[in-house]
Amino acid sequence: MNLATLLARAARVDPAAPALHVGRRLHSRYGEFDRRARALATSMLDAGLARGDRVALFMTNTPEFLEVVFGAWYAGLAVVPVNCKLHPREAAYIVDHGEARAVFVTPDVGHALMPLVPGLRRVEHVIDVRTPAFASMTESRAADIADRAPDDLAWLFYTSGTTGQPKGVMITHRNLLAMTLCYFSDVDAATREDAILYAAPMSHGAGMYAFAHVLAGARHVVPESGGFDPAEIVELSAHHRNVAMFAAPTMVKRLVDHVEATGADPSGVKTIVYGGGPMYAADIRRAMAVMGPRFVQIYGQGESPMTITALARRHLLDTSHPRHTERLASVGVAQSCVEVRVTDENGRSLPNGTPGEVVVRGDTVMKGYWRNAEATANTIRDGWLFTGDVGALDDDGFLTLMDRSKDMIISGGSNIYPREVEEVLLGHPAVAEVSVVGKPHADWGEEVVAFVVLREGARATGAELDRLCLDHIARFKRPKQYLFVAALPKNNYGKVLKTELRNRLVPPADPPA
Ligand code: AMP
Repeated sequence: MNLATLLARAARVDPAAPALHVGRRLHSRYGEFDRRARALATSMLDAGLARGDRVALFMTNTPEFLEVVFGAWYAGLAVVPVNCKLHPREAAYIVDHGEARAVFVTPDVGHALMPLVPGLRRVEHVIDVRTPAFASMTESRAADIADRAPDDLAWLFYTSGTTGQPKGVMITHRNLLAMTLCYFSDVDAATREDAILYAAPMSHGAGMYAFAHVLAGARHVVPESGGFDPAEIVELSAHHRNVAMFAAPTMVKRLVDHVEATGADPSGVKTIVYGGGPMYAADIRRAMAVMGPRFVQIYGQGESPMTITALARRHLLDTSHPRHTERLASVGVAQSCVEVRVTDENGRSLPNGTPGEVVVRGDTVMKGYWRNAEATANTIRDGWLFTGDVGALDDDGFLTLMDRSKDMIISGGSNIYPREVEEVLLGHPAVAEVSVVGKPHADWGEEVVAFVVLREGARATGAELDRLCLDHIARFKRPKQYLFVAALPKNNYGKVLKTELRNRLVPPADPPA
């Protein structure tokens, strides 16, 4: 099935229902959204694009993003959404590697890409969505929906590439449909009364949540700022009501700080889906205390988008459960359309409570990496996706993630999971953020080092933090060194760059003689 069917149906059932908004302003209703997408499909086909071709999007958040995605699908094309925060050279790499034949841009980021376009092998058209040329594309006749098989490529998603070049993850129509249905069963039952707010880049998970909300015939809201501004989010939520949004843990933190500091009323927010990186138990407790029962956690990765496990609202709220604290620090249970196991290096299931690699199987798992059979074969083995994440299942099926396997520290032959040490250090009231990494050590292999960001105006010493660790975890796990820094290095998605922190600890190599 072609995922554009979701829009076709919503528009037929309820053409007058409001669909796309910029801030408070209505941009289009479902009938108009569908008409413009179908016209874009005709224009793309008239421009010579053929089924299976790829169309890249390098845009800041805007309603046209969804028009182009659905337009491409109507035409039987696949999309390559590029994170608008990337450097133009990184964006050019993705457009070129994905062999896109057309690129849709917003002028703010697109202009920097233009000088690089002549070097891109396949690009024939660059279309700025703010120009009359784009407007006239949306006035063509309406295309019919192209036939697509479930395994056809729908979305070529590039990994954030914290190590090496980003890889293209092939996401099919089946993958996105399964992900969309899981949103209803495991995350939040979206309804026509809801509004999804795009506070994170639409090229990533936040944008993928559009499909559940198209299915529901809900409203879509792009903040005027195009991104994440806590005051704007609270204001827009109060206006639109029943707002759902995806937010990385760092965004949740900023929103909670804002609501706490200003006393703003968060009641317009229905659901904040958080994930994409670790949320510490202390942080989610505080978030719920300040903002109420508005949270659901998901764990996913580009290779099984947004869909590995979920920690449901009811589990977050069930404070009387004897293992509530453990559950808060977990990522919840397997979502309904996938199986999740924890395995040893040979892919054999480990007993509950034993950490190992998290593997996933189901309809959300990618088809493979684009033009990279070797990486595909390493990552999908016997039908299971090897996530590279280390975790442990408990007897109730809750998964707790330790770390990416490459982030695990091995000191004196013992495995140390930085996440566990970070959870303890975050319990100190002066600590705002912390990241624990391994530093090469001649005798021990590695030793534990903590990078610590203190809250504004707060003070703490290494000795105090050491005391805290001694009170909570085994001696060998405690950091041997505390480095107080103003901020942690993060990538465009807000993930801490542990590789960069590790590099800071390695003495520079001797210059060549
Ligand atoms: P990406 O493919 O860029 O979305 O990154 C996916 C990775 O982010 C996963 O493999 C995990 O390491 C991490 N991640 C995603 N969701 C969570 C979560 N809820 N808690 C902790 N880590 C997460």
